[in-house]
Amino acid sequence: MSHVFHRHLKHAYPTAVGGEGPYLIDAQGKRYLDACGGAAVSCLGHSDAEVIEAVRDQVGRLAYAHSSFFTTEPMEELADFLVERAPADLSSVYFVSGGSEAVEAALKLARQYFIERGEPQRKHLIARRQSYHGNTLGALATGGNAWRRQQFEPLLVEVSHVSPCYAYRDQAPGETPEAYGERLAAELEAEIQRLGPENVMAFVAEPVVGATLGAVPAVPGYFRRVREICDRHGILLVLDEVMCGMGRTGTLFAAEQEGVTADLVTIAKGLGAGYQPIGATLVSERIRAAIAEGSGFFQHGHTYIGHATACAAALAVQRIIEARGLLERVVSLGEELQLRLEARFGDHPHVGDIRGRGLFRGLELVAERETKTPFDPERKLHAAVKRAAMDEGLMCYPMGGTLDGRRGDHILLAPPFILDDAHLDEIVDKLDASLTRVLTHS
Ligand code: PLP
Repeated sequence: MSHVFHRHLKHAYPTAVGGEGPYLIDAQGKRYLDACGGAAVSCLGHSDAEVIEAVRDQVGRLAYAHSSFFTTEPMEELADFLVERAPADLSSVYFVSGGSEAVEAALKLARQYFIERGEPQRKHLIARRQSYHGNTLGALATGGNAWRRQQFEPLLVEVSHVSPCYAYRDQAPGETPEAYGERLAAELEAEIQRLGPENVMAFVAEPVVGATLGAVPAVPGYFRRVREICDRHGILLVLDEVMCGMGRTGTLFAAEQEGVTADLVTIAKGLGAGYQPIGATLVSERIRAAIAEGSGFFQHGHTYIGHATACAAALAVQRIIEARGLLERVVSLGEELQLRLEARFGDHPHVGDIRGRGLFRGLELVAERETKTPFDPERKLHAAVKRAAMDEGLMCYPMGGTLDGRRGDHILLAPPFILDDAHLDEIVDKLDASLTRVLTHS
């Protein structure tokens, strides 16, 4: 019996022993095409020699120095790299070890900002239903994924949840995308009025919803309206790009495509591409200045903030993505992947929607296309698809439907940026074989 305490205690997983480009290899030598980057993490694949060398070199010189005593070269260089490329106004970076920690830091930065400004009554958060912001308690409270929250509700701070921007299911027949976006903006405005605008601290959202909805971008103009509303009421906009950021959608920051700049942006996953655990919160100048000129101290911290080896790995990853022109590749490969998914599954009776941006694509599985009726969530179709895909030698990231029928099962694809054309066919073929197996046998 394994002594590792896994999330899924009743399932045994294969032992991963190696990686080669976009493939993972298990102890039996079986190869799995990593079409989801684990959970949208491994954007450079699994064996990039330059990143491995950068990690080795950093560990050899200095693996770690506590951030209360020292800064380090890789941390400073990574911060410079990110700020130089981030949307204007994001002027500093707070490094942590993953996505949930990045969200926690963002929430505390928002709170402390208003305390420094003499507005301590601003403590309410507004986020969206069917969102995921992490599993630590603040991040879990912010997320609107009912299933993940369920058991832990008594431990969660109160957060208002408004509707997500989910056109496939929620845009009314005959309603234009613009009118739908307006309707959502009005809902946000109404919630702010209900709470009292002077009491609201921040609105938190994923620019492209990942884990909970399966690569769902907002309708055009939605985020610009959200930004306007936040500005009008002095509310901070926090964009969670932990999954959709760092080039996954074809631009370094997903919100660049929305034409908005947030006050706080969280990133993780693709930042270190899995070569090291690392996340970060990008901080706008007004928040940095309020704290720097006020108390001068952000009341937060973790042992591994700015871990030198993690920063060195992330710096190598990001420089490689830029030097090899991989973001352009994400755009072209992403369009090609969408076309091939549509060609294969466009008429599939159980694929209701194929969506996404860049190399961040989602398929929503439905019992019936016309009515968009989801499969019974108790059937756990997504889990069966994941198992069938692993048998086929394909990793895809599945998610279950909700008990209230608000969404169906999804498959999320977030492959490495280094794929070639043949890999796209392999993804589509293996996914097709997995779906056929599951849908004919269940
Ligand atoms: N935020 C978003 C948008 C995510 O997708 C995730 C993880 O999937 C998180 C936060 C939490 O990140 P982590 O699992 O690294 O704590």
